[in-house]
Amino acid sequence: MLAEHSGTRDLIAFVVRHVSCSVCNHAYAADDVAIVRHSAESWVLAATCPSCHTERLITAFDRPPYALLPHMGMGILPPITQAEVDEWARFLAHFRGDLKALLAAI
Ligand SMILES: [Zn+2]
Repeated sequence: MLAEHSGTRDLIAFVVRHVSCSVCNHAYAADDVAIVRHSAESWVLAATCPSCHTERLITAFDRPPYALLPHMGMGILPPITQAEVDEWARFLAHFRGDLKALLAAI
């Protein structure tokens, strides 16, 4: 575990406050969350449910994912086209989830 790396306590505290088990919805305690990997841009945490013992991997980014686009060779993007707007409109017209599900789907 990379527990002594700067910022890890805040990251674990964020998971404890805002994430729960995806199977039984039980809350995590700080001891249930471990940082398993840290790269230049992201962290991977493993949260183990104290009730049903399901392990969940959580990826956190140092910056918003869109800030990584220049590092992926996508620094200059063309303007959004009308066809893309229409495609999103069709997608959203049939989407029934909440914002969290939307962000997970894209
Ligand atoms: Zn659980």
